[in-house]
Amino acid sequence: SGCLYLVATPIGNLEDMTYRAVRTLQECEIIAAEDTRQTRKLLSHFEITPSMLFSYHEHNKAASGPELIRYIIEGKNLALVSDAGLPAISDPGADLVALAVSHGIPVIPIPGANAALSALIASGLPTASFTFIGFLPRERKDIRAVLSGLRAVQGTLLFYESPHRVAKTLGHLQEAFGNRRVVLARELTKRYEEFLRGTIEECIAWLSEHPPLGEYVVVVEGESKEEAEIAESSWWRELSIEQHVQ
Ligand code: SAM
Repeated sequence: SGCLYLVATPIGNLEDMTYRAVRTLQECEIIAAEDTRQTRKLLSHFEITPSMLFSYHEHNKAASGPELIRYIIEGKNLALVSDAGLPAISDPGADLVALAVSHGIPVIPIPGANAALSALIASGLPTASFTFIGFLPRERKDIRAVLSGLRAVQGTLLFYESPHRVAKTLGHLQEAFGNRRVVLARELTKRYEEFLRGTIEECIAWLSEHPPLGEYVVVVEGESKEEAEIAESSWWRELSIEQHVQ
C-alpha cells in the first residue's frame, strides 16, 4: 500500500513552508485538504500541480475517509493538509489517521508550523508541562464542564479562539479560574503579530476598547502554588503589549 503523509502548512507566513512539505506534496498522487480552494492557492504559490485534490472535512469525513483509505490500499500515496498548521490538530485529520492505523497503513508526519506551540513558546508562561484544549464547546454548560475539569491542572493551558468570541471566553476563564495571568497571541507569523500579556481582567478591559481582530491563541497559566506571588513578579505587574511588524 501507499502511505499517509500528514503535511504541515504555514499558519499565515508562506516562508514557514518546509522544503520537505513542498517535496512531499509534489510527490504524492493525492492531496486531501480541508478547504480545497485555500489549498489550491498554497499549491499554486509553490508551483505544485496535484494529480488529484480531494476534499476531506468535518461534514464529508464519514464517506470520504474510507474512500481515501481505499486509494492508499491500492498503492497511492496521500498527503493530508489542514487549512493551516498541523493536520489533525483541531481538524478532522485525527479520524483519518485512526482509520489508516487500523488498516496497517504507514502514517508519516511532516512537521511544521503550529499556532498553539508557537504561542506557548513565546508566551513567557511555563512550558515544562502544558495542556492543549483547542476550541471550547459552544454551550455555556459544556464550557463550564470543560473548564471545571481543568481548574486543578498545573501546566499551562492552550486554547484556540475566534476574534468575536475571545472576550466572552476570557469571561468564562475568569469565572472558572479566577484572575490568572493570560497571554493572547494574535496573528502569529503574520504581518501584525501581537502578544498581549496581563491578567484575565486586564485583557478583558483591553479588548473592550480594542476590538479583537484576527486569529487568537489564548495561553492561560495553570493552577499554581505561587498564585499569591504573582503580584510580586515585576515583569508581569501590568498589562503589556508586544507587537511585531514583519
Ligand atoms: N491546525 C492548526 C494548527 O496546527 O495550529 C489549527 C487549526 S484551527 C481550525 C484554527 C485556529 O488556530 C484559529 O481559530 C486560531 O485560534 C488558531 N490559529 C491559526 N493560525 C493562527 C495564527 N496565525 N495566529 C494565532 N492563532 C492562529
